[in-house]
Amino acid sequence: QVIKCKAAVAWAAGEPLKIEEVEVAPPQAMEVRIKIHYTALCHTDLYFWEAKGQTPLFPRILGHEAAGVVESVGEGVTDLKEGDTVLPVFTGECGECRHCKSEESNMCDLLRINTDRGVMISDGKSRFSINGKPIYHFVGTSTFSEYTVTHVGSLAKINPEAPLDKVCILSCGVSTGMGATLNVAKPKKGSSVAIFGLGGVGLAAAEGARMAGASRIIGIDLNSDRFEKAKLFGVTEFINPLDYKKPIQEVIAEKTDGGVDYSIECTGNVKAMIQAFESCHDGWGVAVLVGVPHSDAVFATSPVNFLNERTLKGTFFGNYKPRTDLPGLVELYMDKKLQLEKFITHEVSFADINKAFDYMIKGESLRCVTNVIGN
Ligand code: NAD
Ligand code: ZN
Repeated sequence: QVIKCKAAVAWAAGEPLKIEEVEVAPPQAMEVRIKIHYTALCHTDLYFWEAKGQTPLFPRILGHEAAGVVESVGEGVTDLKEGDTVLPVFTGECGECRHCKSEESNMCDLLRINTDRGVMISDGKSRFSINGKPIYHFVGTSTFSEYTVTHVGSLAKINPEAPLDKVCILSCGVSTGMGATLNVAKPKKGSSVAIFGLGGVGLAAAEGARMAGASRIIGIDLNSDRFEKAKLFGVTEFINPLDYKKPIQEVIAEKTDGGVDYSIECTGNVKAMIQAFESCHDGWGVAVLVGVPHSDAVFATSPVNFLNERTLKGTFFGNYKPRTDLPGLVELYMDKKLQLEKFITHEVSFADINKAFDYMIKGESLRCVTNVIGN
């Protein structure tokens, strides 16, 4: 049956979300309808809401960092059943394609991130509507709703004992940042790592560097208010580019005898992406891009920077395979080997979800968790 419930609808670019009564259609073949308990805000939601450098698609239900419980399953779904605890993920894992079978990749052919699609893969239709008018989906998750429908391959089944108000942030930001460092950069013990952008994703990348035993973790951000908090994540030195006249690449080269061993970019700004790459040491330096750029951004650097034996990489979701790897990350938290609380700076009710946007725009929050179940 169709469920009527509340959802926070983005009607137009940059306009505050409105809590509306929406109709959520039942899950079709290989789909699952879930009840969202908690959802957090990631900067990627903000970009597609602002739609400044991204394709506008409205009205839309945003949200992709969340945790919930399965309400019902569609035909052919055997991996999940009503009552299972799940984390929805913006990039899925069908388990069958070349990418899912490759140890290197999480870029599933069927369910990889597609920010421009606002409908379900199976029939090209939306499962959300208001008075018969369809409301678009976002990255296959649309978690700013009491109920949502996703493909089964976009859901990781996790430990039912896990506190959903905490582990919801593993559904994007924390896993992405940690994985960018641990799975993609793979820093050696004792190495130096630069983190560009000290928001939730960047500080998760710093946490990964700390876990890997990096000896210097240099945090770079335009917002100096980030620096105090960043110390909790192992960041040992800070640079605010606004404090220098010369290019930040030169500042970093001077401080590190030629450049850092690894750099992780978590800003979404193409200039910072280039800076991150050019801040790496020649001969061995590795840079990893994580930030989501404007759709027309171009990465420009001299090819000599590559000839001089630097490596540039990029990642979605920190190269984790969501269904395979997320349950293990949840267990790390349950075993107290991974702290999530320090990322959660704000909590709001569902009615106040627009406040989460304000906190992020002002650079005040790392992660703001919205309580959907309590409203
Ligand atoms: P955030 O807004 O919390 O943090 C971004 C930080 O970058 C802020 O502190 C900001 O001051 C800083 N910053 C911005 N421009 C800068 C510049 N030019 N130089 C230095 N610092 C700068 O955002 P977040 O939620 O941590 O997300 C970070 C980025 O990661 C976003 O671009 C987001 O879209 C992207 N992201 C990518 C993936 C992925 O899978 N690749 C997943 C999640 C988020
Ligand atoms: Zn995200």
